[in-house]
Amino acid sequence: MASALNQNQLTRRLFLKKAGSLVSAAAVSPFAISTLLSGGSDDNRIIIVGAGLAGLSCAYELDNAGYNVILLEARKRPGGRVRTYRDPFADHLYAEMGAEYVDSTDTYVRDYCKKFNLTILPAKQYDGAYVRGKHLSMEGLKSGRLRLPYQGTNSGQLFGQEVSYIQQWIDLVKEKGEKSPDVLALDNLSIEEMLRKGNAPKDIIDLYTYTNATESTAVPSKMSALYMVLANSRTSAFSENTEEGRIFGGNDQLPKTFAKKLANKIKYNRPLTSLNFNEKNVTAFFMKNGKQQSITGIQCVLALPLPVLKTIRITPGFSNKKSHCINKQSYGHVMKVAMQYRRRFWDEPDSIGQRVFTDTPLRRVYHFSIDQPGPRGILLSFTSGDDARKLGRMNEQNRMQVSRKTCADIWPEAQNHWEGGVTKYWNEDPWVKGSYSVAGVGQKDFREILAQQEGPIFFAGEHTAIHRASMNGAIESGVRVSDEIKQVG
Ligand SMILES: Cc1cc2nc3c(=O)[nH]c(=O)nc-3n(C[C@H](O)[C@H](O)[C@H](O)COP(=O)(O)OP(=O)(O)OC[C@H]3O[C@@H](n4cnc5c(N)ncnc54)[C@H](O)[C@@H]3O)c2cc1C
Repeated sequence: MASALNQNQLTRRLFLKKAGSLVSAAAVSPFAISTLLSGGSDDNRIIIVGAGLAGLSCAYELDNAGYNVILLEARKRPGGRVRTYRDPFADHLYAEMGAEYVDSTDTYVRDYCKKFNLTILPAKQYDGAYVRGKHLSMEGLKSGRLRLPYQGTNSGQLFGQEVSYIQQWIDLVKEKGEKSPDVLALDNLSIEEMLRKGNAPKDIIDLYTYTNATESTAVPSKMSALYMVLANSRTSAFSENTEEGRIFGGNDQLPKTFAKKLANKIKYNRPLTSLNFNEKNVTAFFMKNGKQQSITGIQCVLALPLPVLKTIRITPGFSNKKSHCINKQSYGHVMKVAMQYRRRFWDEPDSIGQRVFTDTPLRRVYHFSIDQPGPRGILLSFTSGDDARKLGRMNEQNRMQVSRKTCADIWPEAQNHWEGGVTKYWNEDPWVKGSYSVAGVGQKDFREILAQQEGPIFFAGEHTAIHRASMNGAIESGVRVSDEIKQVG
């Protein structure tokens, strides 16, 4: 059993792991890295770029249907933004540093988990809130015994306080339909502007920043009001009652199972640098061990986050509208902080509980290791927007100081049981450079444009999906593109 590590050891271990990545990949990866012939051409090869859930599911479906696929991946592992950390923690504890929750409506994720014999266990819901320095139990809030210290809120709920201020627009959707010009015009307004028009007090906008805007990773002044109205008129907006699950044993098992089935069709440590295409074929240029190589195929699927795709040289280039969307699509800021504690004090009587909504720099803080044996446990923070951006500017040591202090504010007893922690700021990850796509002001048509095929190039990734910003959306997009390619022949 690994012993507990202090913060410096954690950081160093991760550093060593990263520094050794190129050398150690072949030795430690369960997925063999086979030699890729440079410049080779293959009559019917389909090149898929990006081994996140979008690229993996696309490759898996095409491979099953007998297509000749090859997957280029920049990292030494599959999964992209699905990232489970195991090494830094004691006692075989693990934590999701990327995608975590599977909603009850995430049918793609649920279907593949079933197929691959992966179990989804329900997560626990919020026990309390720590806002404006006040500890409030969820039971107290729901029963109306306690009130949120924000002007203009209703009792009995935490999330959704903004809804009463946008009711006129929700009614408009019901009356005229989602596609009516009056409704679509809401895309030109930001959520902040709409709330102001609806006479919401500033407190409601502040609170929204910590409720649903946290899930989106953006700030209300940059998010499309249309998105908010549609989410509420479809009654699918996230709330304290949303039922969520997680893959037992770690979400990374899902991409790893896809990758195992694709075996050496995935080529790791091969970042795409440029792409040339004409009507007949596509040539992808990528780096391998510091040298440029290329591969040619008849079609190519780009399943990369857009902040990376926009840095890739494309010849002769995409259509103007596609290039515009690739360059302008909004993304937010997001960070996860995993903190290991010697004892699970959050489960003890008088504690505010194991999952807490906050307006602190850590925003959502919760016991992650609910399905793992104690006595040690991991508190995880999901923080986004301006808070993630500010923490992201700090070095690891300062991020940890803020995290440690914040947890002590939420749970005074936390200070006595701290062992160490680690952060993952996705905006500084060179293969993402952002969080996930956000419905920005004026971007209502982006998703459809981003998903459209251009010549022999197909586009997958969460940013092209109806269920964007999720694992489910990533798989939805991969399956869609595999169907598009099958239809071409
Ligand atoms: C902190 C965080 C929390 C999240 N929480 C949830 C959640 O609770 N529930 C949920 O459903 N979703 C969540 N998500 C969103 C979810 O992770 C993503 O929507 C989904 O995993 C995206 O999959 P993808 O395949 O589109 O992209 P990615 O997973 O980003 O995959 C793209 C792949 O392309 C590779 N790549 C990049 N550049 C190159 C290049 N030049 N050449 C070759 N390969 C390249 C990358 O390494 C990566 O493997 C979260 C995301 C984050 C960051």
